[in-house]
Amino acid sequence: MDLEEQKKAVIEKLIREGYIKSKRVIDALLKVPREEFVPEHLKKYAYVDSPLDIGYGQTISAIHMVGMMSELLDLKPGMKVLEIGTGCGYHAAVTAEIVGEDGLVVSIERIPELAEKAEKTLRKLGYDNVIVIVGDGSLGYEPLAPYDRIYTTAAGPKIPEPLIKQLKDGGKLLMPVGRYLQKLVLAEKRGDEVIIKDCGAVAFVPLIGKEGFYD
Ligand code: SAM
Repeated sequence: MDLEEQKKAVIEKLIREGYIKSKRVIDALLKVPREEFVPEHLKKYAYVDSPLDIGYGQTISAIHMVGMMSELLDLKPGMKVLEIGTGCGYHAAVTAEIVGEDGLVVSIERIPELAEKAEKTLRKLGYDNVIVIVGDGSLGYEPLAPYDRIYTTAAGPKIPEPLIKQLKDGGKLLMPVGRYLQKLVLAEKRGDEVIIKDCGAVAFVPLIGKEGFYD
């Protein structure tokens, strides 16, 4: 099978297994070329549904995780989304496909070399609705707040207070929480209330920063 056939096959499998169901998420996963975001020697494994090494001790997220997180966040066209942990930019590209030209993805990465490479790939593929910023995303990104949706692609000790502050009323935040035993947590802001839902066990790299681990 060539890469395009492998991509279709893995997405059909994710639909069958119930990870993804909405047309928006399915179309976005079909559109984004994951092979463009992985190192040259791993291109042939681009549609293996698992994290792959992208250097600097970091990984590209598994395809089912990107699809599942997009479904849980209920992303819609026109939304402004904050992503913490750009990595290689693949997940940002999937989000950018869903929010479309009227939406915006603000993505923060703490490792400058990864941010630079991700930005190059995103520009090459024409994702002009993604802004990549180098910094500590555990503090969010105040200048462009508030956001309709916020998600982190690294696991922190708790949901950082600045992220809740930077979320719009009615907005949703999704992040893995925990050091060794992690769970994916969905938070919905309703006025002064934050409603928390546990979305199951996951395994992510650590969120490193002031509101994360090891700062
Ligand atoms: N989003 C990526 C993708 O497209 O597959 C996966 C990202 S990888 C699993 C997690 C990323 O979070 C790493 O690149 C890591 O450097 C970054 N990270 C960890 N702590 C961070 C922080 N405080 N601010 C910004 N990025 C952070």
